[in-house]
Amino acid sequence: MTSNAEWQRRSLASLWHPCTQMQRAATTVPPLPMVRGQGPWLFDAEGHRYFDALSSWWVNLFGHADARIAAALKDQLDTLPHVMLAGCTHAPAVELAERLSARTGGALGHAFFASDGASAVEIALKMSFHHWRNRGRIDKGEFVCLKQGYHGETLGALAVTDVQVFRDAYDPLLMRAHQVMSPDARQARPGESAADVAARAVGEVEMLLRERGERVAAVIVEPLVQGAAGMAMHDPSYLRALRALCTRFDVHLIADEIAVGCGRTGTFFAWEQALPEDASEAERRAAWPDFITLSKGISGGFLPLSLVLSTDAVFQAFLDEDVARGFLHSHSYTGNALACRAALAVLDRFDQEDVLGRNAVQAEALTHALQPLLDDPRVEHPRRRGMIWAFDVRAEHAGGNFAERFHLAGRQQELLIRPIGRTVYLMPPYVLDEALSAWLAQRLQATLTDVLEHPDADRTHQPPTA
Ligand SMILES: *Cc1c(COP(=O)(O)O)cnc(C)c1O
Repeated sequence: MTSNAEWQRRSLASLWHPCTQMQRAATTVPPLPMVRGQGPWLFDAEGHRYFDALSSWWVNLFGHADARIAAALKDQLDTLPHVMLAGCTHAPAVELAERLSARTGGALGHAFFASDGASAVEIALKMSFHHWRNRGRIDKGEFVCLKQGYHGETLGALAVTDVQVFRDAYDPLLMRAHQVMSPDARQARPGESAADVAARAVGEVEMLLRERGERVAAVIVEPLVQGAAGMAMHDPSYLRALRALCTRFDVHLIADEIAVGCGRTGTFFAWEQALPEDASEAERRAAWPDFITLSKGISGGFLPLSLVLSTDAVFQAFLDEDVARGFLHSHSYTGNALACRAALAVLDRFDQEDVLGRNAVQAEALTHALQPLLDDPRVEHPRRRGMIWAFDVRAEHAGGNFAERFHLAGRQQELLIRPIGRTVYLMPPYVLDEALSAWLAQRLQATLTDVLEHPDADRTHQPPTA
């Protein structure tokens, strides 16, 4: 058996780990060598287990090595693993596009496939710009994004992202985008509700669009939860008002559901929570965004897949005898059959198992189990939306390097968890039950207590003690 230490040595010598200062990895936070996954658990090379509290960067919806997704993939593997999607088509891509379209009531009926979230964002930005150009609106080339927004790390996506540590070094390379206030409810002044903060944020968008709307192609937003900036949550009224403004000023609305889609916020699409309740079918259709980007959970944590859903109006603007008026964007693995098949297996579970109803019950149980921790006076802004829980550790208690120390302390408690700054969050796979919730809450509490009470402990090579 190769030991953890041996894998760590070889990994550090041969890989760039993502989102990682490699010197820090070499000295303080060596990568955990995982050899096996089962449900919410990951097992390292020495047999220690870890609860995957963040669904492996929010992708793993139904636990690791899920048998039903695996079975679908094995079948696809023996028939058609891949074929290019230019000049060819195949059932998994077609069925996936149709089934996602149906989930928007047909409002977003055209799917363009790619592999990573950032690529989907690039596609939505390019498609919006090119749509206006095809319509003769060559003046519409500006984008609006939100403070604390995150849309990926390729140059276009980074240009509409506001996480300094990811973008500062590349700032000179990036196109300029307009930034507006985040509707983050934590900014509420005394007496203000989340809806009041949302209304203030909407006011800023309105001012900008009054002034620049003619030149703006699209506004891009993470509906309900701004994930990578620290699980900042906002009131759904913000999204309804944003839709109305974009319609009024003839600007596209891009909903980046890469993190919040696939049931994570309690509905399949987060945007469903912004739709009007008693409205005609036409009104409901018009209340959807012009684009939705999806990735992460859609293929259940098995294979890279992303996609952009767009409306008929967008699609029609590209139809012409002139090739150059088409959307010529492509990636080699666009619409990969295996990845699409994994996504179909994910959708099967939503269709056949009342995943959302079950999650709602599980979420109550975990929220209940977490209550003592959330009442801790060292903790502020406890919040939840669907299957996302977050709280902030007060600055005066968190201390320096909090996220790294918390992560290392979590390992000792059999938790794979990565705070963002001093925001601790849980985004577990949809496999909780009452016992697991109680266990998770207890281990999270133990981790917090350990970090706050032993800030200087050396945890670098400590295996789980449990
Ligand atoms: C993760 C994420 C992306 C980027 O997806 P990648 O697959 O990492 O490129 C874009 N937008 C949001 C909201 C995300 O959470």
